Amino acid sequence: MPRKKTEEQAQAPPSGSSGNASWTSDDQIFAYARSGKSGICITSFEETRVEAEIIGVVDRLNSVKKPGQKDWNLHIWSVTQGIDGIPETEDPLAMLAAFQEKCPERSIMLARDFHAFLAGDPNPMLVRKLKEILMDGKTKNKVFIVCGAELKLPIELQKEMAVIEFKLPDRAQLNFVLEKFAESAGVYLDGNREPILDSASGLTTSEAEDAFAMSVVKCGDIKPEIIAAEKAQTIKKNGILELFETTARAEDIGGLENLKGWLAKRRAAFTREAKDYGLPTPKGILVTGIPGVGKSLTAKAAASILNVPLLKLDVGRVFGSLVGQSEQNMRMVIETAEAIAPCLVWCDEIEKGLGGSQSSGQTDGGTTARVFGTFLQWMQDKTAPVFVFATANDISKLPPEFLRKGRFDELWFADLPDADERAQIWRLHLNKRGRKADGFDLESRATRSEGFTGAEIEAAVCEALFASFDDGKRGLNDDDLLESIRNTVPLSRTMAAQIDGLRSWAQGRARRASAVKETTSKSRKIA
Ligand code: ATP
Repeated sequence: MPRKKTEEQAQAPPSGSSGNASWTSDDQIFAYARSGKSGICITSFEETRVEAEIIGVVDRLNSVKKPGQKDWNLHIWSVTQGIDGIPETEDPLAMLAAFQEKCPERSIMLARDFHAFLAGDPNPMLVRKLKEILMDGKTKNKVFIVCGAELKLPIELQKEMAVIEFKLPDRAQLNFVLEKFAESAGVYLDGNREPILDSASGLTTSEAEDAFAMSVVKCGDIKPEIIAAEKAQTIKKNGILELFETTARAEDIGGLENLKGWLAKRRAAFTREAKDYGLPTPKGILVTGIPGVGKSLTAKAAASILNVPLLKLDVGRVFGSLVGQSEQNMRMVIETAEAIAPCLVWCDEIEKGLGGSQSSGQTDGGTTARVFGTFLQWMQDKTAPVFVFATANDISKLPPEFLRKGRFDELWFADLPDADERAQIWRLHLNKRGRKADGFDLESRATRSEGFTGAEIEAAVCEALFASFDDGKRGLNDDDLLESIRNTVPLSRTMAAQIDGLRSWAQGRARRASAVKETTSKSRKIA
């Protein structure tokens, strides 16, 4: 019997409503069913939406069938309910047998919990039976669909089943959910609709509904800022991506003028006007340099310069312990970033996670190399307005293909700050801590702190403040700053060889982040 949408599924948004030229998941299922593909795997967290789309596909299939042909029909199985309408089919083998023997031609089986039986070391009987069904299905127009949040097919089934990754809902789909929700909750959607949709992008339909409901509970209305806060919590749950709140701005960075200028030129790059003008969407940049020179600070400020939300990617956490999990995590990261786009994805110390991919074949069965390959492919092909800001301290750990043209718009090298930059950094950090920088001899402090990173200058200011506080909470003076400079052993001394190595690597390969004014032994000019 053809299955109709339940009330819950009727609430699920239609697919393909974005008018996007690329194929939607239901187009793909439809095409597979018509072309005689008998096995499909769908990865998604959204069971209800998947079901609703498959019901829609069955309707579509029936609308194009030839006169005299039987209707397509849908059966749904779960481990607790068995197949609807066929008793004693809770057991997966019994379900497969029933699908083969009792379901007529032109049947689609949506097996909800079946992926759990394929994980790890699956029962050979189950795998064999499924293979028979897939073989049979080709001639009888029967399609077996497995749906789960995480799918790993046994190797012998991989060639038999097509894999569809269900995309997160697009703007039009979220709008559908929003309208339905607002109607049922009696909320009037005035000029708020666009900001609400912005803040809900990247959520599944049920997460979006939960966020709308939470907002109504909290303030009787659907407020973008509450949705954004709910989204930050939701994204945090996976521990890989984090919606990062930051107040950093370009003015908080001392020096790095070339890099700041490059970013400032792209401040409107993600706007409609830029697109209409014919500007390409920036892909992203890789910034290398020794620790503490302001790479992370610039990543945070870049989000505010580009006026987009900042997503921080913990590259190390992409790697999961289960087989196939790391690749899936990387795909999830890409999907979430694209759904939230325009946004900036900050990959801090990328070499720590993706370095070592060259040796990955021997050490982890090639997982790092595959994850890395997925990332690179995405960097190469992506059209969504996602700006990747990658930082690396140890460039030697990154494989050469990472640095090849076409991946990043630009490679930058952030060197130790020169005298002018150090003076700016002293000023920024004194002012930041409520001290009037003009009352200090900044030129001399800048000279005395040659070889310091920005982080070391900041630490020296803090150390000097501790000294003056301890000395009767008196006012901070130049001598306190001098004393803390004397007590600092800068990285440039302890890591001199590494810094020289980085500089020679950067020579001719990376653009200099600072506008060079000074050439000394500690801060040399890079071509
Ligand atoms: P790491 O590789 O260790 O993360 P990094 O190069 O990313 O180092 P940051 O983390 O950005 O350096 O620097 C740490 C802190 O030092 C910053 O939050 C900022 O307070 C200060 N700092 C570093 N460089 C600068 C700078 N150029 N201007 C102002 N402050 C700076």
